[in-house]
Amino acid sequence: KCGANYVPLSPLTFLKRAAAVYSHRTSIVYEGSRFTWCQTYERCCRLASSLRSFNILKNDVVSVLAPNIPAMYEMHFAVPMAGAVLNTINTRLDANNIAAILRHSKAKLFFVDCHFVALAHEAVSLLVKGAESPIGNGSCSMPLFIIIDDANSATGVRLGELEYEELIQRGNVEYVGEMLQDEWDPIALNYTSGTTSEPKGVVYSHRGAYLSTLSLLLGWEMGNGPVYLWTLPMFHCNGWTFTWGIAARGGTNICLRNPTASNVYHNIKAHDVTHMCCAPVVLNILLEGKPREEFHLTSPVHVLIGGAPPPAPLLGKIESLGFQVSHAYGLTEATGPALVCEWQAQWDQLPQEERAKLKARQGIGTLTLADVDVKDPQTLLSVPCDGKTKGEIALRGSSLMKGYFRDEEATSKAFRNDCFLTGDVAVVHPDGYLEIKDRLKDIIISGGENISSVELENVLYRHPRVLEAAVVAMSHPRWGESPCAFITTRPNSTGRTDDVNEGDIMAYCRRNLPHFMVPKWVEFLPELPKTSTGKIKKFQLRALAKNFKVG
Ligand code: ADP
Repeated sequence: KCGANYVPLSPLTFLKRAAAVYSHRTSIVYEGSRFTWCQTYERCCRLASSLRSFNILKNDVVSVLAPNIPAMYEMHFAVPMAGAVLNTINTRLDANNIAAILRHSKAKLFFVDCHFVALAHEAVSLLVKGAESPIGNGSCSMPLFIIIDDANSATGVRLGELEYEELIQRGNVEYVGEMLQDEWDPIALNYTSGTTSEPKGVVYSHRGAYLSTLSLLLGWEMGNGPVYLWTLPMFHCNGWTFTWGIAARGGTNICLRNPTASNVYHNIKAHDVTHMCCAPVVLNILLEGKPREEFHLTSPVHVLIGGAPPPAPLLGKIESLGFQVSHAYGLTEATGPALVCEWQAQWDQLPQEERAKLKARQGIGTLTLADVDVKDPQTLLSVPCDGKTKGEIALRGSSLMKGYFRDEEATSKAFRNDCFLTGDVAVVHPDGYLEIKDRLKDIIISGGENISSVELENVLYRHPRVLEAAVVAMSHPRWGESPCAFITTRPNSTGRTDDVNEGDIMAYCRRNLPHFMVPKWVEFLPELPKTSTGKIKKFQLRALAKNFKVG
């Protein structure tokens, strides 16, 4: 079916075009290095050809554990150019989670930034041992380890294994990539902590990635040649598709290893940054770490925020520094942003507090979504647009994932009733804008990172003295939400139950979980409140957690 008038949609075409149209324009800046779009294209062609020499076959998975450095950006093009699927791994995960992802994805190659070598080695050794893992029980094949040495980074040590730059050097610059036959072929695989203890591999197709990228670019005016600061990790939904999008706009990627406040302000000034994306928690960090009391940006920086609900007062404060905030809501399964709070010109006249309140709403569907509905969970009928009646957000459209990797059951469950039910509860205002009020799924969003309560509970249950455990979200001044654990204890040999304390539980969690998942509060109860069928009444625990103050 492919032909002159039917070419499979793919964001890979953006790079070739950028190399032709913006050949000498700066594509990437990172510390002392600078590339043009022509160089970036050539480097991607070389890398892709080198990948082929490792016997990478179509749809094989190539994993990468790296922060926002140039290699991470290049791999977004080079890996799918070779016909493979890019799996970016969250650098905040621990070795167990990483091993589980490598095992489930059956990754053939594993690219690792030099700062994460110890973590990656630990993950790979767990893979070898076939250690207990939350997911995946298929046969364990070892990925080939490739180091991304960073000449700019403090370590700068040559690590003596296969190295990223060497692959680029030895690659063939004439290689144009594998011919894409089907736009539904996978381009990327992103693991999400989901609603159970089982992280799921969310598969994006070339088609979905292409359409999502375009719709986001149309929805957020970036102009020609934006200067984009990489504050949002590329491992979050491929940087909400801006990895591919910045090539489409011939923009400049300002890569950033560590988005501390001083790094962000320094880069904004040094490179005249025009755009950036982040979770609301980063805005907090920018407010706290502003260079001086009376600070104001010299030219506006457009910030797209999402990943967690933004508190309205925060929006007001950050705008007073000269940031222009747009707000989006999304999830991994929707290839990043699914709703945007599209701004109406008449709102400009409103008092600042009113404007912030309107902006904190999650908004309306992006261009690629055919349908956004809020459904009553019982009847599955649309709720009225009264700003009061709650229902679950349901999505239909071309930016939704292709499905869950090697999990047909979960995929058909996710797409039942001809829509994707998000697990987020919202109201619809009379103007059609959605506002999220609650979450049906058992996740806690701490600083924009998802934490599965079930995963955390499973770890707590493995503690020898924990009889029962339930984890809920509590509010946290810095992270938005943080996990709060309720525990009942098992008696020790002398019958005592009160000899375990909060510190013991937290230390145990720190040893067994990524640090961002460790509960910030542990509350011991004589028993957990339960329904007549024995289910833990989490709503009662959430109410209790409202009384606890951390931070
Ligand atoms: P991401 O990597 O973008 O955070 P996840 O799939 O990990 O995507 O998390 C998605 C969940 O985060 C959503 O289902 C929702 O609960 C929450 N979320 C994302 N954006 C917003 C927002 N703007 N307002 C409120 N909640 C949000």
